[in-house]
Amino acid sequence: MKLCCENCNRKLHKHGRYFRWVTSKSEHIHIPIYRWLCPSCGTTISLLPDFLIPWARFTTWVRESVIVRKRQGKSLGWIAGAVVSTRIGLSPSTVKRWWKQQTAKVAATSLWIASQLVKAGCEEDLLRMHPKPVAVEPADTWIWFGQLVQRYAPRLSRLRGYWTFLNAKIPREYLL
Ligand SMILES: [Zn+2]
Repeated sequence: MKLCCENCNRKLHKHGRYFRWVTSKSEHIHIPIYRWLCPSCGTTISLLPDFLIPWARFTTWVRESVIVRKRQGKSLGWIAGAVVSTRIGLSPSTVKRWWKQQTAKVAATSLWIASQLVKAGCEEDLLRMHPKPVAVEPADTWIWFGQLVQRYAPRLSRLRGYWTFLNAKIPREYLL
């Protein structure tokens, strides 16, 4: 693997590592995160594995499956008990917080996906696919998001979910 600096395109050098705790469906894992340094401008980056985003302790797959079940109408308590093992534990209030946070983000992320589809030559009226463009309810925007993602990643395996794939492509402010 060869990494280049975003500023000056020089090849980055390995620059140590640190360990981070990550929580999956059934275990806490201590994983190494490698840091890279640009010898020319001094920029350092940490390369996270694709199933993590910088500010989340739970893997992307766990967070996505919480939202999928909330969209299916499951209760906070049911989701908290179903998505991770009892050994890991997840509280209904965490489920509620994730739902609020992700729902606040999904419109912006959806617009970004729509803009990429348009750039790629998509000629459908993507805004009209939104089930309720005025006086939007969160559930409506999630439906729109689902339709956009299916166009953006139509043949993706459902095994790893959509967010891991999306997060590898989208700018930091739209990460899910
Ligand atoms: Zn540089």
